[in-house]
Amino acid sequence: MNVIELKGIKKTYHLEKLDVPVLHGIDLTIQQGEFVAIMGHSGSGKSTLLNILGLLDKPSEGSFKLAGIEVSKYSDDELASLRNHYLGFIFQQFHLLSKLTALENVQLPAIYSNSKDEQNHQDPEKLLNLVGLSDRITHRPNEMSGGQQQRVAIARALINKPLIIFADEPTGNLDSNSTKEIIGILKDLNASGITVVMVTHEPELTAYASRTIRVQDGLIISDEKNADAAEIKEISGAKDFKHKAFSFSRIKDYFLQAWRSLAGNKMRSALSILGVMIGVASLISMLAVGTGAQKAIEDQVAGLGSNLLSVSPGASQRGGISSETGARMRLIPEDIADLRKNVRGISKISGYANGRAQIVANGKNYNTRIEGVSVDYADMRTSNPSSGRFFTELENSNKQRVALLGKTVIKEIWGDSTFNPIGEYVKINRIDFQIIGVLPEKGSNGFRDEDDKIIIPLNTAMYRVIGTQYLNNMDVQVQDDADMNEVADNITQRLLFTHRMPASSLDAVRVRNMAEIQETMNSMANAFSLLLGSIAFISLLVGGIGIMNIMFVSVSERTKEIGLRKAIGANNADILFQFIIESVFVCCAGGIIGIIFGSAISIVISKIAGWTTAVTLSSIVLAFGFSAVTGLLFGVWPARKASLLNPIEALRHD
Ligand code: ADP
Ligand code: MG
Repeated sequence: MNVIELKGIKKTYHLEKLDVPVLHGIDLTIQQGEFVAIMGHSGSGKSTLLNILGLLDKPSEGSFKLAGIEVSKYSDDELASLRNHYLGFIFQQFHLLSKLTALENVQLPAIYSNSKDEQNHQDPEKLLNLVGLSDRITHRPNEMSGGQQQRVAIARALINKPLIIFADEPTGNLDSNSTKEIIGILKDLNASGITVVMVTHEPELTAYASRTIRVQDGLIISDEKNADAAEIKEISGAKDFKHKAFSFSRIKDYFLQAWRSLAGNKMRSALSILGVMIGVASLISMLAVGTGAQKAIEDQVAGLGSNLLSVSPGASQRGGISSETGARMRLIPEDIADLRKNVRGISKISGYANGRAQIVANGKNYNTRIEGVSVDYADMRTSNPSSGRFFTELENSNKQRVALLGKTVIKEIWGDSTFNPIGEYVKINRIDFQIIGVLPEKGSNGFRDEDDKIIIPLNTAMYRVIGTQYLNNMDVQVQDDADMNEVADNITQRLLFTHRMPASSLDAVRVRNMAEIQETMNSMANAFSLLLGSIAFISLLVGGIGIMNIMFVSVSERTKEIGLRKAIGANNADILFQFIIESVFVCCAGGIIGIIFGSAISIVISKIAGWTTAVTLSSIVLAFGFSAVTGLLFGVWPARKASLLNPIEALRHD
């Protein structure tokens, strides 16, 4: 039975500018059980021929039958599977993986074999025993001599019970004692029925072979039988070599390899994880700040009700140039009563005069915000006191010194926000005020603590504390939503009339609908989130490019390993997955740490800056998803590059 049948095999290497023809038409038939030695000068094409025989390289022309199957048209993956199941390789440079033990090196081809059937594999320990290395099972290649390494390589070639073993100058790097041992092992294997094809330039080794072929300038120039070949056995029925990409051992190996590579380059892995971590952390924290701002605005505006109008002095002067009509109205307390009386449809109205003041009470000094408001404020802004009472219209018109305190103020002065201060006195800008109520708790609105303030009657505030004749603004509650626009127009006209301004100077006063304000604020918050999000996204992108860079380094560093893995049967998908898993792992690790870190940052931001931040599940999912996708996207390119390497080119890489 012909285990190998070559007809008219030609091989031309295509270099950048020239074609190098190496094999010029080789016809060769090898029978099962033969021990063939290939001899020839350096550069005559021996390795090229052996690589083609071993399906590591494809001929440019010609027909190749392996165990009766025409293989010259097979795909890369099918060839990988054939190599894995039918062929064993022994290289001059051993090509053991330095991070694996002898045992793991021997097991390697079994990982890429599809058959679950134990009968198709040999026991790796028995094989190491067979090559005389039973005491070196857990040694790594750098702890072994050249001869020992080559014996590990032989054991590796045997693990899947190959039909043929190819050896390219297996003793080329060995001393004469090791050479004898290795050749002895090959001879024994041949005696057990395995076909051996060996390239050598040591003439004395041909004595072990049953047949010697001489190659010169890409042609076979002689072919001699040395002795009768060992008893030729029939090939057992061709094994099934259908390509099946997934098996548990393969997937386990992907993760193991990814882990080994990361653990073997700790600094590099840590830096790439750091890159992703920074990206994810900034994504999380920036989204948290953005979402927080949005939520704060929503909360604040939701409490206002939609039938509110805000009345404020007209557009302020821009750069010293007053607005078109020139004038800017100044609102006075009398406007409040006048509007209530003369504009129909108003249900409530409150004026505002704000300022900051130094307060003293309980021996403590504190600086806070003073808001002078009208009586209607309590209902309009849902600020009915949680204990005590609001002030009355009489107290307002009499400019009486009564105050309602926010929880934060109470906490700052009495050290306990649950303290009941009603009846106590507080000095506001050195004037004694009696505390008549405590304001309901409102929390932070994202930019300001709404509980850090004192409310006093509007007139008291204007004339006794702040010292102003004018209001900052007014809030008007309209009875019926449908009348909003009409009421707004009437307010403008009435104010222009009472302030003796021309009816055309609409710019002098600004009446805005709360719904509009709400919308403006929301769209601002949205823009803010988007801006922050895109900055964070860019940093994630930079992290991703860092990963790609590191993956490229990893690929080129391990090109030899990739070549070896492919030579023993790994297919393109195996290599692709191994590298993708590595980069996805880096990104996921960076992602998880980044999520933790980003959440911590947003908590710190909310503590230090007093902003509301909200880390939402969706932002965590988004950040994690992004980092995983980054790993995938930026890992695919280098991984693909690795997977497409030709095994022989890759093995030659250094
Ligand atoms: P041998 O093993 O007999 O020493 P090889 O088969 O390695 O010879 O090489 C035969 C010829 O092919 C040499 O001239 C070598 O330079 C050339 N060659 C081998 N591999 C390549 C390649 N990948 N690209 C271009 N030329 C190559
Ligand atoms: Mg060679």
